[in-house]
Amino acid sequence: MKTAFIGLGAMGYPIAGHIAKKFETLVYNRTFAKAQAHAAEFGSRAVGLEQTAEAQVLFTCVPISKDVDELARQLLPHLRSGAVWVDHTSGEPALAKETAALLATKGVTYLDAPLSGGVAGAKNAKATVMVGGDKAAFERVKPVMETYAAKIVQVGPLGAGHAVKAVNNALLAVNLWALSEGMVALVQQGVDAGLALEVINASSGRSNVSENLFGSRVVSRAFPNTFALGLLAKDLGIANQVFQEAGTPAPLLRQLREFFEIAKLEIGSTDVDHTAVARLLERWAGVEIH
Ligand code: NDP
Repeated sequence: MKTAFIGLGAMGYPIAGHIAKKFETLVYNRTFAKAQAHAAEFGSRAVGLEQTAEAQVLFTCVPISKDVDELARQLLPHLRSGAVWVDHTSGEPALAKETAALLATKGVTYLDAPLSGGVAGAKNAKATVMVGGDKAAFERVKPVMETYAAKIVQVGPLGAGHAVKAVNNALLAVNLWALSEGMVALVQQGVDAGLALEVINASSGRSNVSENLFGSRVVSRAFPNTFALGLLAKDLGIANQVFQEAGTPAPLLRQLREFFEIAKLEIGSTDVDHTAVARLLERWAGVEIH
């Protein structure tokens, strides 16, 4: 099976590397040097955008759904009937449905298939994939996904993957913000941050944020940028679209979008790690979490 991967960013680069070890893989990246580096490192083939249309399975992993839709429009004249387009972008259900309808005019099946597990999960081939769309197309591409994912679940029809991802990331955001608030209060009262985390991680308030992010990124003061604040804020906007579409109450999770928009403004950059919101709480509290 010939595959193509478009978007060799923090997530796409290692994911496409795992695919290239098992399947013939064409790679395209807007900044072409990254595609050339990928080819040298993993034995993929760096190509121009049009050439990716040769593949039977095309992957995209770019920032937003609008980028995916633009790529689909550019590639449309070249695409082959019967191909499957797997979109690993954390995107918008509504726009993804429009892109899927466009691709269907050329006999190409689109699956929304966002990823979770972070850059570490992508590098270790332990990503989680949540898939929305056609079941037969999903079954065809599943063996390729198995090269980089530890958990692959078809969660529902077209758009369902994006919706689940948006809710997941709203839960990430609420935990990150809430733990930051709690930790500045504790540190201000003279509690050692490392000891507080140790206790929380053995108690009922623990989360992925407390177990896997806060110690290594905030308390360590490292803040490595593997998942940008701007991308998480974007996901909260998508979550609000999901709540709006559902018409269900979400007073807490809807609010998060405002919190993270304020964080972007106050921090003055979107291109910092999402855990930088802890720094904002620190600034407001006048204490440093350590
Ligand atoms: P990065 O910013 O690291 O990479 C983005 C990639 O998309 C780069 O290859 C970039 O090319 C390319 N790109 C950007 N804009 C365009 C465009 N208009 N047309 C074509 N290519 C474009 O992002 P991530 O890899 O972190 O994230 C990608 C997606 O995965 C996002 O939707 C994100 O929310 C999601 N995600 C990220 C996770 C993470 O931990 N980082 C975890 C789970 C999901 P160039 O090299 O030229 O800049």
